[in-house]
Amino acid sequence: QDDTPRVLSIQSHVVHGYVGNKSAVFPLQVLGFEVDSINTVQFSTHTAYKHIKGYVLNNDQMKELVEGLVLNEVDYYTHFLTGYSRSPDSLREIAKIIKQLREKNPNLIYVCDPVMGDNGKMYVPEEILPVYRDVLVPLADILTPNQFEAELITGIPMKDLDGALRVIQRLHDMGVKTVVLSSTDLGDEENMIGLASTGGSCYKIPIPKVEATFTGTGDLFAALFLAWSHLTGNDVKLALEKTIATLQSIVVDTYQTARASHLTGKIPPRFTELRLVQNKTVIEDPKIKLKAVKI
Ligand code: ATP
Ligand code: PLP
Ligand code: MG
Ligand code: MG
Repeated sequence: QDDTPRVLSIQSHVVHGYVGNKSAVFPLQVLGFEVDSINTVQFSTHTAYKHIKGYVLNNDQMKELVEGLVLNEVDYYTHFLTGYSRSPDSLREIAKIIKQLREKNPNLIYVCDPVMGDNGKMYVPEEILPVYRDVLVPLADILTPNQFEAELITGIPMKDLDGALRVIQRLHDMGVKTVVLSSTDLGDEENMIGLASTGGSCYKIPIPKVEATFTGTGDLFAALFLAWSHLTGNDVKLALEKTIATLQSIVVDTYQTARASHLTGKIPPRFTELRLVQNKTVIEDPKIKLKAVKI
């Protein structure tokens, strides 16, 4: 093997736009990663659009694709990334795949984005929660929940920074090496807060709010944090700063471009697709404007 990092990413695919693998693969490739992707669904667009058309990959099909990789001896990966999934069985299958990949590479890093909901609401079936909590979270090297997801997994409410630290500690106790809270409402009117912890040290970073709803940003966050953890030799502070700097640039650019054609009111989804291609140089070399501080 050469020293190119190799990721297996199991996420959704959309024909148009950027969520799941469509928002993870390009940034990872731009940052020098080989990426193999398995598409859990193939939809025309993401699910915030009016019409949803497409296909779901079933478990046997997912298993078969991995079997082909194993048989052809192309199943050596340095990183494994998973996101949005709607069935408990597919998560159990993913747990089996992790164990299989770790037989080939015991140092495999598993990055788990436990996508379940946001702002107090679950948008996947409730039966998913115990499978994340009991099966997948304990296998994760890096976990990237948002505030709500971290509260669901630990059963601990997060009303302030102390609460956040308790939640983070609990996740470490469950076996997670690096805990990253991609967004929390523990900031102020203008800022959300992101947090990253290795158990030894914990950092927080402000995330200036943009007045629009984006889709695919959570998936982009997990991919970027994976990439920057590797590229910085596991410097979580720097990885968090690079990740947030990239997201902030892309989100602001996407927003400004959308606002130019929609001067007021809510912007329809097709105008807020993330401008990834246009921000290729930002992805390659994000300029850090907001620093993370140790807490
Ligand atoms: P997941 O989808 O993984 O469960 P999440 O709910 O945190 O996590 P998002 O809400 O999409 O996912 O946020 C991920 C990142 O995207 C944030 O850390 C932030 O950098 C950026 N982001 C998303 N929406 C906004 C917004 N309205 N204003 C500013 N930044 C945003
Ligand atoms: N719609 C579909 C089909 C998805 O697969 C996803 C995430 O993978 C989303 C919407 C939401 O993406 P995010 O949580 O990154 O905003
Ligand atoms: Mg969110
Ligand atoms: Mg998400």
